[in-house]
Amino acid sequence: MTDRSRRNFLKSSTAAAAGFTLIRSLTPMEIFGAVTPSDASTRIVPFPLASVRLAPGIFKEQEETNARYLDSLTADRLLHSFRIMAGIPSSATPYKGWEDPSCELRGHFTGGHFLSAVALASAASGNDVLKKKGDEVVAGLAQCQKKIGTGYLSAFPAGLFDHLVEGKPAWAPFYTYHKIMAGLLDMHLLTGNTDALEICEGMAKWAGSDFWGIGVISAEQRQRMLRTEYGGMNEVLVNLAAVTKKDRYLDAAHLFEQPGFLDPLAGRRDELQGLHANTHVPKIIGAARMYEVTGDRRYRQIAEYFLEEVLTARNYVIGNTSLDEHWRTPPGQLKGTLGWTNAECCVAYNLMKLERLVFGWNGDARWMDAYERALFNCRLGTQNANGLKQYFFPLAAGYWRAYNSPEESFWCCTGTGAEEFAKFADTIYFRRGSDVYVNQFIASTLDWKEEGLRIDQVTQFPQEQSTTLKIKTSRPSVRTIHVRIPGWTTGAAQVKINSLPLEAMADPGSYLAIRKTWADGDTISISLPMELRQEVLPGDDSTAAVLYGPMVLAADLGAGPTGDPGKIILGGDPWAKNLPAASPLPKAAAGSDAETKQWVQVESAPELRFTAAGDGAKYQLMPMYRIRDQRYAVYWQTGNPKPQS
Ligand SMILES: [Zn+2]
Repeated sequence: MTDRSRRNFLKSSTAAAAGFTLIRSLTPMEIFGAVTPSDASTRIVPFPLASVRLAPGIFKEQEETNARYLDSLTADRLLHSFRIMAGIPSSATPYKGWEDPSCELRGHFTGGHFLSAVALASAASGNDVLKKKGDEVVAGLAQCQKKIGTGYLSAFPAGLFDHLVEGKPAWAPFYTYHKIMAGLLDMHLLTGNTDALEICEGMAKWAGSDFWGIGVISAEQRQRMLRTEYGGMNEVLVNLAAVTKKDRYLDAAHLFEQPGFLDPLAGRRDELQGLHANTHVPKIIGAARMYEVTGDRRYRQIAEYFLEEVLTARNYVIGNTSLDEHWRTPPGQLKGTLGWTNAECCVAYNLMKLERLVFGWNGDARWMDAYERALFNCRLGTQNANGLKQYFFPLAAGYWRAYNSPEESFWCCTGTGAEEFAKFADTIYFRRGSDVYVNQFIASTLDWKEEGLRIDQVTQFPQEQSTTLKIKTSRPSVRTIHVRIPGWTTGAAQVKINSLPLEAMADPGSYLAIRKTWADGDTISISLPMELRQEVLPGDDSTAAVLYGPMVLAADLGAGPTGDPGKIILGGDPWAKNLPAASPLPKAAAGSDAETKQWVQVESAPELRFTAAGDGAKYQLMPMYRIRDQRYAVYWQTGNPKPQS
């Protein structure tokens, strides 16, 4: 999330948006895989969240920690600024930080991310307490919207939108508006709250009449307006169109498109340098959804090229991108970009949303490999034991994680983190027709009631380098179960069906398709051996990070600070003040240009303990997600190693 001083301005373009109005006959809930989609036979789609439950393990622990934090927030405080804006008395104590009554983003979390997060928690874990709190907030928002009377709903005055057209300063009013619309749509789709859909449509109609109506503002004014961060307005409008089957929302979504940004991507040109990362990834998610709803393949080409480019030319080893929230360099040139302000967490959240959409189009394991990389290395571990979330992800040596305060921050990353940690179940299993895709190795249960099929995934991955799928079925049935064989595993990977090894095996980085008549009690045992390897920083062959399987290993450099400068818990501003200079990258011992195992050793695979021989020093290594409040180093100065992955 950018702020006023750092806001990025896009190149303006007055070219008209393309005018597709055909809405394919998708069932509305397909967005979340909540019901059988109409084209499930050709596309790979997620199972409904309600069909998947996490089993005890690291992901379930994190889900529960997040739920406790969400439950600590009260509806009256969440609604305070909305009520004041609508002229409804409120004596509640408002939250602070980006929810302070003076902040132009107020409402983005309290009426937006919060609703999405509790809706996800309700669907993914049956959390009725959070569902009721979500219903309470929706009811409060309905009262506010009714009192205002125009369809408008926000915690700040509508006049802020005028600034966008007039070219006056405004932080990001449509960004906030999007979060509220998305939260309401999530409450409708995931929990069945019908009022939420009505409120969301009211918001869309208000914006349409004031901003999107032909003759209200010119195309030039609109493009000027779109220079200010607007979140996923195009995405939520496409989703609203799919839910309601109303073309006008699709027309409105097109009006949030910027040819100046999309055209180079359609031409496979990386002109991302200088752009604000988290302003732009959501625009691509909107394009991806536009492809899914209209079938216009140009949007697909844009999304696929963008994702491939960012992942290969702009990502750090943890599976995320950006410095100071921006793409600062030419593609493939990340040398000199390691600092405190790397890899804003929201960007990982949005890249992962895009990865799971693109995976659904082609079933390519690389997107699920990328998803896993981000999941284990820059989502897991970014929440502390009190449910507080990170904003930046420092990648220079000697820094530490910093988290938001419980009631005085409410950053964008607080919001996307609250959603992420409520939806770990959403990408483990996908399906196409009667086929099942096992994408992620997370202890969980898939209950496919319509097919009478249940799969228990039993694993302590990544502490164990294997997983077991136990089939329970009311009747034997022929189907294909596709298991991801990750790109990081070795040629020794093996699959056994009922203890008998399969003779055929898929290559790492692809899916193994197992077709047979599945009977009750069948088991699939998958061993996925991990090995040490290193990956260089793009554009800098003398800087590398060490991985073990999907996990980035970090060196523990000792306790981080608890006070200033740059304390662990930050207040409203995520940009820590008076930070000390980063440490030099630790030097790998001589010989690091040979194999990784020449200087990194596995001390205990089950305990995930490692050591590395530095230049005159020995380091303890652990998976990055296990780093809590310590200082750490992810990258090493090496002897010009060759990448082994
Ligand atoms: Zn953020």
